[in-house]
Amino acid sequence: MKKILREKKDPKGGKMKVTIHRSVLEIVQGDITQQDTEAIGNAANSRLAGGGGVDGAIHRAGGPEIMAELKARYQQGCPTGSAVITGGGKLKAKYVIHAVGPIYSGSPKDAQLLSSAYRKSLELCREYRISSISFPSISTGAYGYPVQEASRIALKTVIDYLKDHPEVKLVRFVLFDSKTFEVYKESLKELTAPSRELP
Ligand code: ADP
Repeated sequence: MKKILREKKDPKGGKMKVTIHRSVLEIVQGDITQQDTEAIGNAANSRLAGGGGVDGAIHRAGGPEIMAELKARYQQGCPTGSAVITGGGKLKAKYVIHAVGPIYSGSPKDAQLLSSAYRKSLELCREYRISSISFPSISTGAYGYPVQEASRIALKTVIDYLKDHPEVKLVRFVLFDSKTFEVYKESLKELTAPSRELP
């Protein structure tokens, strides 16, 4: 069994970092458009039409070439639970991975679709040899997914993936508001608690 190790916790609580097998998983509070990871994830809609929230922020910061590439390459949009990739335009990140999470409905399918949106994004990292990615909290804004449930799904999906894919060296969750950040922090503590490290 590969080891999950809690490595370092900022005493001020502004960041939490754990090691999963040979990779780092961290959660921070901040603005995803400012991240210097090779890729950033976007919480897109299935028409890839741009919108408010994190999607709007990414298109504003990255400039019009991201939308131009989406229109040229993915005219059919992107199904819920999947993801597509473009360049990063003016962002520090070289790529944007546009993942489409579910609109929360309370059905068991929501969890599968949310997990799949993260997993497809990580598979694109592998395909494009991207070794670091930042994710926002997909579906928990306008799409209404309860943050605690969503955070557990997001983190568990990433942890499971990193156990088998050390080529992705860093996954960072960038949470915009302190409430969301605190919920993710608690979920990460739960998921990596020593009692869970059994073989
Ligand atoms: P969705 O439609 O998938 O729910 P939203 O963009 O409405 O997506 O919200 C997803 C999360 O992204 C919310 O927690 C929201 O606060 C957060 N968010 C908004 N702007 C940013 C940003 N610049 N960086 C990181 N997260 C952001």
